[in-house]
Amino acid sequence: MVQKQTYAVAKDVLTFLQQQWLVATPRNYALGYALKTDTDSALVRAMNAIIDGGVRMSQQQADDLFIQFVGHVGVANAIEADKGQDLARHHAIRLGEIAQSAAAATGEFNRELSAGYDRLDGETSDLAPIVASMIERSLRAENELAAAAREVEALRRELDVARHDATKDALTGLHNRRALDMELERLIASEGPYLVAICDIDRFKSVNDRYGHAVGDRVIKTVAASLSEGCAPHMVGRWGGEEFLVILPDLDLEDGVALVDKARRDLGQRPFNLRETDEPMGAITFSAGVAMIGKDEADNVAVLSRADAALYRAKDQGRNLVLSG
Ligand code: GH3
Ligand code: MG
Ligand code: MG
Repeated sequence: MVQKQTYAVAKDVLTFLQQQWLVATPRNYALGYALKTDTDSALVRAMNAIIDGGVRMSQQQADDLFIQFVGHVGVANAIEADKGQDLARHHAIRLGEIAQSAAAATGEFNRELSAGYDRLDGETSDLAPIVASMIERSLRAENELAAAAREVEALRRELDVARHDATKDALTGLHNRRALDMELERLIASEGPYLVAICDIDRFKSVNDRYGHAVGDRVIKTVAASLSEGCAPHMVGRWGGEEFLVILPDLDLEDGVALVDKARRDLGQRPFNLRETDEPMGAITFSAGVAMIGKDEADNVAVLSRADAALYRAKDQGRNLVLSG
């Protein structure tokens, strides 16, 4: 139910922004969110006065409204603005989760249909065209949902860029994906070999499901700080949602694995408690895949996919594990 409401509101807000030709930045999202959820506030009245009669709101007007009603200079309002940004981000995460699980469910349905189709024999052959068309339709739905999940991911990146400077991850303060990509490009152009480690928090979705996205965010921040401390002075950045990338030049594979493994053990010993009630949340762990760039490799694609494959094996072997590939 909550999921449905979140989705419906987020969809309304995004549709509103699209109709107004406003980019889905956190500030604009916060305005749209107010319009779709507040019934009668000064902000909503001011917005309605602008858009009544089908007039589009300009970015300048949106900025003015934001400054006037949401973002005055001052700590209290900065916190409010931050809340608006978190809200937009959490909605985007939720949308991504919904699209992803819907795509998975549709894929499952499609596989069942296909298996059933194979078992149809001559006697029931009038069913065959119906089933065939259902398969086709569900395949199309699966593709559409996967595309929606990708769009949401792109939106999340846009929100992140709008929030902060272009090379820092807003939530964790670590380097963001763009900064990591630039460093990898720089390294590939230079002589020396280097390692990459992709670290992914184990069963993180269940943290969100059990405690909510705000607690999930705090866990991501703590893991980020712990990993960055454990791997210092090497570059650690946020690669995506609950994934981090460590770049380790001038280390052999064995030493790289040992370093990341030590960071893994340190994190595993750290107690995680809910801030509000002090209730223990159980251990938070990550799995990692480490790989070294080959001498003749002209780009980073292969090394990243070897690290990813090693990570996948670590997950497969029960998680809380660092493997090399
Ligand atoms: P696995 O051990 O296989 O990695 O399981 P998992 O649950 O960690 O993996 P999965 O990829 O299914 O889930 C990752 C979750 O991370 C889903 C996504 O919504 C959540 N997530 C991604 N980014 C953020 C974020 O910035 N904040 C919060 N709270 N959650 C996020
Ligand atoms: Mg992941
Ligand atoms: Mg994970």
